[in-house]
Amino acid sequence: MTAQTPRLLVVGSVAIDWVITPRAERPEAVGGSGTFFSMAASYLAPVQLVGVVGRDFPEQAIADLKHAGVDLDGLEIVDGKTFRWKGRYHDNMNARDTLDTQLGVFADFKPKLPAGYRNAEYLFLANIQPDLQLEVLEQMERPRIVGLDTMNLWIDIAKPSLLKVLARVDALLINEEEAMQLTGEHNLVRAAKAVQKLGPNSVIVKRGEYGALLFHGDDVFSAPALPLDEVADPTGAGDAFAGGFMGWLARSNDPHGEQLRTAMIYGSTLASFCVQGFSYDALFGLDRAKIQARFDQFARLSDFRRADLR
Ligand code: AMP
Repeated sequence: MTAQTPRLLVVGSVAIDWVITPRAERPEAVGGSGTFFSMAASYLAPVQLVGVVGRDFPEQAIADLKHAGVDLDGLEIVDGKTFRWKGRYHDNMNARDTLDTQLGVFADFKPKLPAGYRNAEYLFLANIQPDLQLEVLEQMERPRIVGLDTMNLWIDIAKPSLLKVLARVDALLINEEEAMQLTGEHNLVRAAKAVQKLGPNSVIVKRGEYGALLFHGDDVFSAPALPLDEVADPTGAGDAFAGGFMGWLARSNDPHGEQLRTAMIYGSTLASFCVQGFSYDALFGLDRAKIQARFDQFARLSDFRRADLR
């Protein structure tokens, strides 16, 4: 990373999760969309994190984020309890149920960006209440690219705010079911086109173990997920994907055409590491060589020789 690599600002949840998989249970796993995003993106670009935690948030996690190089000036530590989420995965790990959500310090959170954050060139509004995403967007000077993630809950209970923020973003990252829920379309291509009409020119549809699709203008690109024989915990995979994706856009500082495709593969690469451990265990302590080796594995995974029947 050079001193000139543009900065990537993220606002998102910083959480304590209770994760139940068919094989194991972790009741105090540090999570949150902002956490996974920052850890993943930190390998590619300088990251500034905006969020809030309570005094119960583990000091070790703060130290780990700092160690990863994440700028935490925008992470408030206040009296009260950290946001908590509890979920249980189904046997195939591709689906999960939310068992409990406790807002804690999120209930009164008013994001206030430190002065040095407002001119970040790349902005990611990770999964969080859409009004908070809007408040951050409004404090930014002129980000070059704005990315956004959301979830079914906000489509259900905060759709007007979500539509307001969507109109101002360049790239939406969303799950297949959520894309359909948001647009009322049951065909993926039609759903993506309908999302594009709401604002974002790039729509990235995440399909878990089946990979992700990028719809950019009229172009479509398919990125596989790495076939793994052991998935420890899928929590945060979507956020790690977003971190790899946005991280590459910032690093290349050329958020168009071919670079968007490369960004999809960095997204898939970071997501594949994320699911190999609980919390951010498998995302932490990577280095560029390990990430690059896996990126190359992805290139091999769908590389094929062009044939011609004529
Ligand atoms: P993902 O697996 O990429 O969908 O992200 C999972 C993370 O999202 C977990 O670490 C949760 O703490 C966080 N999360 C779950 N529900 C919410 C919510 N309503 N708002 C913000 N973050 C959430």
